[in-house]
Amino acid sequence: MKRKRLIVMKFGGTSVGSAERFRQCAAIVARAAKYDRIVVVVSAMAGVTDLIFKTIEAARHGDSAATRTHLQKFETMHRELIVQLFDSTRHAAANDFTSEVLSQLQNACHALSALRSDISAQTADSLVALGERISAWALAAYLQQTGSSAEFVRAENVIVTDSNFGNASPDIEATRKQCEQSLLPLLDRGIVPVVAGYSGANPQGKSTTLGRGGSDYSATIIGAAAGADEVWIWTDVNGVLSADPRICPDATTLPEISFEEAIELAYYGAKVIHPKAAYPAAEAGFPVWIKNSFRPDVAGTKITHDARPANSPVKSVTSVKDATLISLVTRRDVHPVELWGRLFLRLGQEQIEVLFATQSSPEHALGLVLRREDAARVLKLINTVFRMELAQGVLNPAAVEDIAVVAVLGESMKGTCGILGRVFSAVARREVSVIAVAQGASELSICFAVPASRGTEVVRAVHDEFFEQIGANIPLCLRPNHSMSTGAQ
Ligand code: ADP
Ligand code: ASP
Ligand code: MG
Repeated sequence: MKRKRLIVMKFGGTSVGSAERFRQCAAIVARAAKYDRIVVVVSAMAGVTDLIFKTIEAARHGDSAATRTHLQKFETMHRELIVQLFDSTRHAAANDFTSEVLSQLQNACHALSALRSDISAQTADSLVALGERISAWALAAYLQQTGSSAEFVRAENVIVTDSNFGNASPDIEATRKQCEQSLLPLLDRGIVPVVAGYSGANPQGKSTTLGRGGSDYSATIIGAAAGADEVWIWTDVNGVLSADPRICPDATTLPEISFEEAIELAYYGAKVIHPKAAYPAAEAGFPVWIKNSFRPDVAGTKITHDARPANSPVKSVTSVKDATLISLVTRRDVHPVELWGRLFLRLGQEQIEVLFATQSSPEHALGLVLRREDAARVLKLINTVFRMELAQGVLNPAAVEDIAVVAVLGESMKGTCGILGRVFSAVARREVSVIAVAQGASELSICFAVPASRGTEVVRAVHDEFFEQIGANIPLCLRPNHSMSTGAQ
């Protein structure tokens, strides 16, 4: 008998955003389960994780009116789902499960507002994972109601992580053992396990989360640990596109991209896949498909090791619209490398991601491009690390500027000259000044910073440059392969 493939299917927040969407997901799973062994990973309903974060914040600040409003909204969303999704035989069980989750959230909020204390990262993780717990339970129950064999599985029983709450890393070996116990016996009995995405547990069994948008990562972690043949990420667009369709409505779907391209794309703002999700798949060697749950018959994008080149050397234009440039300048008689070394060490210890950095030795200047949410922390760190240098005037106070980062990506850019010229001509035609530039040694991407208010316009301009003119025969010369890393301007 032909071996059945093992496919992990992940459904994102919009794909489970309403009862109607749940029905569609169940239909996709039921159809696939006829041919293959399926493990399902589910996100919280769209907006629910944000809502839990807001609820916690309100409780922490003792804002009981806002806390009540948010809790009410959480409850209404899920109770309405139950009414619309389940027949009368399942109402009681679904309401009980929701009540249990809700009271966990309510109790934590009472405690928080009474103490007015900061919430520990560990407690926060146990709460923000609750959205996924309800939606996974609901999808499993709906699959059962419609005649499929399915069972809800808590994420804590599947994914083992370290104790870095809020941004945990998986232990694939330990997860493999968990999968053998919690998933494979179900699969062997023809049952579809439905696992809550986004979270896992540390070796002590405490809930952890994998970072925002982490359900994609859950899917590939489970894929690697359970020996999947493929992972399919179901979302609300046709696949990975040449740009965010909310910015460029005419963006085209890319049939194939490499893991490296996917990682870079996600890192520089393409929300369609979590930045870390490609790693377990690349290492295990299985492809990841991005597919549209609203249009399941569209092929989607295949992320694989040996992706075919696209028509254009540029595959995608992405942006991080909320970024900050922190500029540091030292006195001229100082050798700045030692200073920057100390700073980067601390940034690493604090696990702060630098989107890109530019260094100019003659000017004794360092530019750090960061996500805006990290800027305040980094400024504090700079003031601590360089307290003496700042006091003695060796280092000028940091200059801070809100910017947008635009990234132009594609493996075939390597060895193709003329790309930089076209990118910056397109930007110049819009009369936008480029604040900082970096091209990685891999030549997979060119990143640059522009004023925050011009980011969207620049993405459109660069996208038009490469995608409106496909086939327009713009001469590009090929130069011999070499490894190059340019610094900053
Ligand atoms: P999900 O809820 O399914 O996890 P996300 O909202 O996290 O979905 O990601 C899908 C969204 O990513 C799309 O709706 C789209 O607006 C956005 N996006 C940004 N850049 C891209 C891109 N290059 N290709 C496809 N989608 C993108
Ligand atoms: N629900 C989580 C979030 O919004 C994880 C996910 O959807 O992937 O971040
Ligand atoms: Mg997502």
